[in-house]
Amino acid sequence: MSNTEPPAIDELPARHADGPPGLAPALAAWRDLLGANYVRTEPSALQAAATATFATSQRVLAIVAPASRAEVLGCLAIASAHGVPLYPVSRGRNWGYGSRVPSQPAAAILDLARMNRIVDYDERLAYVTVEPGVTFQQLHDFLARERSELMLNVTGGPVDGSLIGNILERGIGLGPHAERAQHIGACEVVLPTGELIHTGYGRFDTPLAPLSGAGVGPQLAGLFQQSSYGVVTQMTVWLARKPAYFHTFYYQVRRPERLPALIDTLQELRLAGPPGAHYSLWNDYKVISTLQQYPWEAAGGRTPLPDATLAQLRQRWGVAPWNGYGAIYSCSARHGRAERALVAQALRGQVDDLRFVSDTTAWAARALARPLLWLTGYDIARATRSHDRAASPWLGAPGGNVASAYWRKRAPIPASMDPDADGCGVIWCSPCVPFTGSHVAAAIEIATRVIGAHGFEPNIALVCVTPRVVHAIIAILFDRAAPGEDERALECHGALLRALAERGYLPYRLGLQSAGGLPPPTDDDARLHAALRRALDPNNILGPGKYSP
Ligand SMILES: Cc1cc2nc3c(=O)[nH]c(=O)nc-3n(C[C@H](O)[C@H](O)[C@H](O)COP(=O)(O)OP(=O)(O)OC[C@H]3O[C@@H](n4cnc5c(N)ncnc54)[C@H](O)[C@@H]3O)c2cc1C
Repeated sequence: MSNTEPPAIDELPARHADGPPGLAPALAAWRDLLGANYVRTEPSALQAAATATFATSQRVLAIVAPASRAEVLGCLAIASAHGVPLYPVSRGRNWGYGSRVPSQPAAAILDLARMNRIVDYDERLAYVTVEPGVTFQQLHDFLARERSELMLNVTGGPVDGSLIGNILERGIGLGPHAERAQHIGACEVVLPTGELIHTGYGRFDTPLAPLSGAGVGPQLAGLFQQSSYGVVTQMTVWLARKPAYFHTFYYQVRRPERLPALIDTLQELRLAGPPGAHYSLWNDYKVISTLQQYPWEAAGGRTPLPDATLAQLRQRWGVAPWNGYGAIYSCSARHGRAERALVAQALRGQVDDLRFVSDTTAWAARALARPLLWLTGYDIARATRSHDRAASPWLGAPGGNVASAYWRKRAPIPASMDPDADGCGVIWCSPCVPFTGSHVAAAIEIATRVIGAHGFEPNIALVCVTPRVVHAIIAILFDRAAPGEDERALECHGALLRALAERGYLPYRLGLQSAGGLPPPTDDDARLHAALRRALDPNNILGPGKYSP
C-alpha cells in the first residue's frame, strides 16, 4: 500500500467522482474503518486495477483492503448503506479471465490480499485452513518449513495467485486433487447482508468442521463458487500425501489422426486404470509458447505462424503435433511398477516415443549426472527434475508457465512478470468436452478453424482430470499493443464460445470476456438465481454479472 495521503474526495478526477452518489460518504467511512492507506483512489492504481489481459470497459472506483473478517463485515455494511458496488478479489491474478476488473460497470475492489494467515494445519488429517490472501508459493514454503509430507495441487498459473481465489473459480491443476474445489472442508463466508455463515459442519462447535465438505444438511459451499454471493474469508483445503513412489511419463503423437483413439484409451485408463494417475496433452503451439516467444524474424513478421516456421520450431524443440505427459502416484515401488505396466500396455502402439521416469531412474540419473554431463553434455539432472522432491510441480512446487502470456510480445519477457501491466493479450476459452475421441476431435477442429480464421494460433491443452469430461484449455494469445488485436481477439473468443456451445461444449469457468456468452437456460434456473441474489445480496452490491448476467 502507498503511504501517500489520499486525495480529498472533491479532488478526485471527474470519472471517479461520477460514481454512485454514495461514493464520497462510502470512501470516508471506509477510511475511518481501515485507515487512509487502505482505501486507495489514486488514478494510477485505479487504472492498473481496471486493466486486464484483454480490453475491458469497467471502471474501478476505489481499492479497499480490509485485514480481518470484522473489517470485511464493516466494508460490506458501508457498501450496502451507500449503494456502492464491491468486487471481491483474493490476489487478483485471474489472468486471461479478467484479472481484477470488476464484473459491474463501476465498482470498488475489495482486495483481500492482506488477509494472508494460514490459520490451521494438521499433518495427520492432511489439511490447512487459509485466508484469501494465502498464495500457492506461501503455502508451499510453509509446508517445506514444517517438513511436511503433504503436497498441494499447483496450477500453470501464477505462483502468487490465491488458493481461495483459484478454488472459488474451480481452477484445475496437476496431480491428485486436480479438481481442487472437490477437496475442501468448511468455508467461512460473510454475506452482503452482514451475516456470517460457515459451510458444512462449520456452523457447530465440532472438530469435524475442517474434515468434511458436506457436513449435514444442504451442502452450501458450492453456492459461493463462481457466484459472488458472499465473501469467503476462510477455507479449509485438503492436501494429498506425497506418494511413496512415483513415475512421470512423456510421449508424442506425431500423426494427429491417431488422437481420437488415444483419447478413448486415456478415458478407459482414467476410469479403470491406476487410481492416482494424471494425463494431459498439449498441442505444438502450447508447448512452443512455453519455450520461446513468437519467432517474428523467422516468420517474416507474419501472423499467424506460417506452417514452415511451425515445422522448424517443432524440429528445434523436438515437439510433435500433440505431446502427452502424466504422472502415476503409487503407494510403494511394487505398486508403482505394476501401475506403470498398466499404463505402458494401454499406450503402447497408440503413441510415439513413450518414456517413463521413475523415482529409481531419477535417483540413479542424479548420481551419474556430473560425469554424464562432462562426458556427453547431456544434462540428465535437468531431464529428471520433475522427480526432485523439493522442486517438482507434480509434488506441489508452484512454477507455472506465465511466460507463455508473452508469446506475441516483441519485447523480451521481463524478470518480474505482470501480464496486465505489460500489455500481454491472453483470453482463455475453457470448454468441458465429453471424454470420447470423437467429441474431443470435434472440439479441436472447431478451435483450430475459428482461431485460425481470426489470425491467431490455436493454443490447446487437454486436461483429463475426470473420467467423464476433458477440460480443453484454449488460449488466444496476442499483443494488446498491436493495433486492432484487442477487438479481433475478443471477436475470436466470442465466435469460439458460440461455435463450441452450439455443439454443447460449454465452459467450465467464465471470465469477464464470456459473461453473457452462455446459451439461455431451458428451465427456471435464472429465476432461482435472481431469488438467491435478492435473499443474499438485497442491495445487489457484490460482484453480480460474471456468472449470472
Ligand atoms: C499462462 C497462464 C497459465 C494459467 N494456468 C492456470 C491453470 O493451470 N489453472 C488455473 O486454474 N488457472 C490458470 N491460470 C488462470 C489464473 O491466473 C489462475 O486461475 C489464478 O490462480 C487466479 O487468480 P487468483 O488465484 O489470484 O484469484 P482471484 O483473481 O483473487 O479470484 C478469482 C475470482 O474469484 C472471485 N473471488 C476471489 N476471491 C474471493 C473471495 N474471497 N470471496 C468471494 N469471491 C472471490 C472473484 O470473482 C475473482 O475475480 C493461468 C493464467 C495464465 C496467464
